[in-house]
Amino acid sequence: MGAPREDCIVVGASFAGLACAYALARRGARVTVLERKSDPGEKIHTTGILVKEAVDRLEILDGLPRKLTKRIEGVRLYAPNLRHVDLSAPGYYFLATDTGNVMRWLARRASEAGATLRLGTAFEGARRVDGGFDLGDAGCTAFLVGADGPRSSVARYTGLGRNRAFLFGIEHEFPLASAAGLDAPDRLHCVVDRRLAPGYIGWIVVGVTGLQVGLARRVHEKAINPRETIAALLAKIRPIHDLTHCQPVAVRAGLIPCGGVVHPAAADRALLVGDAAGIVSPVTAGGIHMALKHGLAAGDAIADFLSGNAGDAHVAFTRTYPRFRMKRALRFAFDHFQSDWMFDRMLSTRALRAAASIVYFHRLTAVDVPMRSCATAPQAMTDPRGNGDSGGPEP
Ligand SMILES: Cc1cc2nc3c(=O)[nH]c(=O)nc-3n(C[C@H](O)[C@H](O)[C@H](O)COP(=O)(O)OP(=O)(O)OC[C@H]3O[C@@H](n4cnc5c(N)ncnc54)[C@H](O)[C@@H]3O)c2cc1C
Repeated sequence: MGAPREDCIVVGASFAGLACAYALARRGARVTVLERKSDPGEKIHTTGILVKEAVDRLEILDGLPRKLTKRIEGVRLYAPNLRHVDLSAPGYYFLATDTGNVMRWLARRASEAGATLRLGTAFEGARRVDGGFDLGDAGCTAFLVGADGPRSSVARYTGLGRNRAFLFGIEHEFPLASAAGLDAPDRLHCVVDRRLAPGYIGWIVVGVTGLQVGLARRVHEKAINPRETIAALLAKIRPIHDLTHCQPVAVRAGLIPCGGVVHPAAADRALLVGDAAGIVSPVTAGGIHMALKHGLAAGDAIADFLSGNAGDAHVAFTRTYPRFRMKRALRFAFDHFQSDWMFDRMLSTRALRAAASIVYFHRLTAVDVPMRSCATAPQAMTDPRGNGDSGGPEP
C-alpha cells in the first residue's frame, strides 16, 4: 500500500463507532465511518435507555437536547407471580430516549468534529497490506476499527475474537396514547419469568416516542418465534397493562452479546469496540454507556498510536475493557439456577432487593414502596426496616 488515504476507518455509525470517530477527529486524525444504513437513526434495534453515569460523565453527550430524553425515576420489579417492589436510589435515574434522533445527533456531532460519514456503505472485507488495510472500494486505511455490532464482520476479516454467547432481544413500540392507565408510568417495569424470558427479563417503559414493551432471553438451540414471544409477553403482562388489542408502530430486535469481552479485541492496526468487542454487561445487557465510554477511549488510544508515540499501546489499551468477572458469575448463576418459585418467595427479602439495587443502580439502596400484587388489591407487605441501605460499593 502507498500512503494510506485514511488514518482510520471505523465500521459502524452507532454508539461505539460514532464516539470513537468523534475522539479521533478531535485529535486531528483523518477518520471515515462506514455505515451500511443510509440513515444512522433508522432501524434502531435497541430500547435505548441511558444510565445516569453516561449523561453525567461523557462529554460527547453534553448538550443532548432534552426533548430527546425522558427521565425514568426508578424500577418496578415484578416477580413471576406479578407481585412487585419499587426500587430507586437517591439522585439516580435512567433516561429513555428517542434513540433514532439521538443517533442522528451523535452522527452530527462526529461530523462537526471532522469525521467523514459514508452512509449506505457496507464494509465488505479487508486485506492486510503494508502499513494498514485495503478495503477495496471503501479505501485504504492505516487503522481499522470494528464497531459493527455483535456479529462483527471486521472481527471475522481481521482474525480478532468473536462473540459466542448471546441473548435475543425483541421489543414492540406502541403509540404513546396506549400508555394511558399504566400505573407508575415514570418507572422502568421489569418482569422476571423463567419460561418467558429465561436468563433475562421482560420490560415496559413509557419512552419519548411510545410505549416500549419487550423482552430478552437466552438464545437456545430452538429457534425463537418473535411473534409468539411477544404474544406470550403481552398475555403475561395483561394484569399490569392490557395491550393485547394494540398494534405496534415499531418493532426492534437484535442479539446482545453476554459472554464477556472477546479475545483478542485488538491486534496490529485493528481494534474492536462496543458490542463487536463484547463490552455489554452480562447481567443487565446494557451496552450503550460502555459503547460510548470505550469508543471515546479507543479513539484516544488510536490517536496516540497514529502519532507514533505509543507503540502497540492500543493493544494494551483493550486490557482496560471491563472483564465483568462478578457479572459473569451472576449470569452463570442466573442461567443455571433461575427459579420462579424462589423469586416469588424472595422478592420481599432484603437480600434480593439489595442484589437488584446493585444491578440497577450500582449501589445498595432503599425500597421506597411496599411490595404489592398487581393482580389483586394492593396489600402492604412487611418490611419493618423500610429505607435501610444506602451508598453501597460498585459491583
Ligand atoms: C432489544 C434490545 C434492547 C436493548 N436495550 C438496551 C438499553 O435499553 N440500554 C442499553 O444500554 N443497551 C441496550 N441494548 C444493548 C445496546 O443496544 C448495544 O449494546 C449497543 O447498541 C451497542 O452499540 P454498538 O455501537 O457497539 O453497536 P450497534 O448499536 O449494534 O451498531 C453497529 C452498527 O454497525 C453497522 N454495521 C454492521 N455491520 C456493518 C457492515 N458490514 N458495514 C457497515 N456498517 C455495519 C450497523 O448498521 C450498526 O449501525 C439493547 C439491545 C437490544 C437488542
